[in-house]
Amino acid sequence: ALQYSIEKIREDFPILKREVNGYPLVYFDNAATSQTPQQVIDVIADYYANYNANIHRGVHALSQEATDKYEEARHIIQQHFNIEKSHEVIFTSGTTHGINLVSNGFASLLENGDEIIVSALEHHSNIVPWQILAEKTGAVLKVIPMNQEGELIYSAFEELLSEKTKLVFVNHVSNALGTVNPIKKIIDKAHQYNAAVLVDGAQAAPHIKADVKALDVDFYVVSAHKMCGPTGVGMLYGKEEWLNKLPPYQGGGEMIATVTFEKTTYAELPHKFEAGTPNICGGIAFGAAINYMNNLGFDKIAAYEEELLHYGTEKLLEIDGMEIYGVSKEKTAVISFNIKGLHPYDIGTILDKLGIAVRTGHHCAQPIMDFYKIPGTVRASFSFYNTKEEIDAFIKAVIKAKTMLS
Ligand code: PMP
Repeated sequence: ALQYSIEKIREDFPILKREVNGYPLVYFDNAATSQTPQQVIDVIADYYANYNANIHRGVHALSQEATDKYEEARHIIQQHFNIEKSHEVIFTSGTTHGINLVSNGFASLLENGDEIIVSALEHHSNIVPWQILAEKTGAVLKVIPMNQEGELIYSAFEELLSEKTKLVFVNHVSNALGTVNPIKKIIDKAHQYNAAVLVDGAQAAPHIKADVKALDVDFYVVSAHKMCGPTGVGMLYGKEEWLNKLPPYQGGGEMIATVTFEKTTYAELPHKFEAGTPNICGGIAFGAAINYMNNLGFDKIAAYEEELLHYGTEKLLEIDGMEIYGVSKEKTAVISFNIKGLHPYDIGTILDKLGIAVRTGHHCAQPIMDFYKIPGTVRASFSFYNTKEEIDAFIKAVIKAKTMLS
């Protein structure tokens, strides 16, 4: 049996002790951003208290300490995602930045009439940059459709592929529904056509330890703030051969080898893609967050969250008029729902009055809402530090909201 000491884990998160509107906080907006354990907060405070300095350039002690810690964090990230070479780890400001870095680079690699494939289950940040790319290059954007259960239709994906396909971009886990996509199958199939695959791992990273080597994925992007780290930092993994093919995204300091007004040469990886002073403290804290989660263990986290998902789903379905969107057997602890006749925003507002944080709206995934012909949903997303007691409070509050609004 799994040893999982929820009381001890909750002690690590100071924010979980606070009240909202006179009620104990119930934080079920983990898919938007996760909370930060004291171990990570301490690392952030330690950086600013003891060795705040710019990296890679300084001869002095503080700069070297900061550089060492930053590069140590790169190493932690490398190991966590089973990345072969440390220079295949590019620090970014987050998933959105990572995707834009790749989509901009592909502008110089695509030709009019090439095809690129997106899925119906994407976050806007894995749609819009590719639309811009298609507009710039004349490439054609194709969409893998979804079914009523909130899953991608894999056979339709196979039919979209052709010799013209250059790139496929899908998320590992859908933020709006929690569906876990069959990315290994998608990657292997796309590679049969020599198409590159970018996987948006923003929602998978807090629940699933992705092994990029086993996946053989070409690009994998995540945000630290979804996995117990700070905002404003993330990772782009790219296979070395691809990162060498892509031109730099931003010009500036750090990313050059030599600069003259006649010609500038670019630095080696990873610096070619890391122009300017990065989020140094954020990067170091990202490493600490990954260490924290690995100390708990991703197997234990996944098993516990699955229990919460089943418990929450069962309880919600006892409520009359309940409609849950995204019912794949392969899903993370996200419940997206509506109650017949009620607006999601009104439910969310009443839940907030009762101290319960959920997200309402389209979740930056309007195509999914259009598919279901709804304006949005209420989304409760659980983390490893949530409890069944919190779910009970949430269910009570949903019933109260329903009574008040009906
Ligand atoms: N993709 C998915 C699936 C997401 O859930 C999010 C965050 N909601 C993003 C991309 C964008 O991440 P960020 O805002 O951290 O860049």
